Amino acid sequence: MDIRTGIGFDVHKFVKNRKLILGGVLIPYEYGLQGHSDADVLLHSLTDALLGAAGLGDIGEHFPDSDDRFKNANSSFFLIKAYDLVKKQGFYLSNADLVIIAEKPKLSGFKKEIEAEISRYLGLDISRINLSATTTEKLGFTGRKEGVAALSTVLIIKD
Ligand code: MG
Repeated sequence: MDIRTGIGFDVHKFVKNRKLILGGVLIPYEYGLQGHSDADVLLHSLTDALLGAAGLGDIGEHFPDSDDRFKNANSSFFLIKAYDLVKKQGFYLSNADLVIIAEKPKLSGFKKEIEAEISRYLGLDISRINLSATTTEKLGFTGRKEGVAALSTVLIIKD
């Protein structure tokens, strides 16, 4: 059995006049996140974790932000494509543990919906996807509400 872990990290900045999309879910808030795609910081970190676990590089290599095809792209596209590549290597995802770091907005009411959305993208039981949401106690850029950070870990297995 070949068992591997992967880790992914991402940050995006809050800006006016954009929708806030986290884990594929539209979150009502006065700011959205800046980025070439829909700037879904959580899905970007998860995509990197999956690619990393399989030794397949990172999201920027596969989906460069210089490519106009990915302008305003729905980031579930990156995640699903990355998992396809991982599966092509003979691996399946056992579980993903995800962290969103943000002072605002409050995400506790959206965690289950985000887990459900991600489990749907990956074709996995929701019990294998866990999301926690935390703050940095008003410290640093997330504490100043300048943006959102996300961290993901995954375990992939080849039988
Ligand atoms: Mg990103």
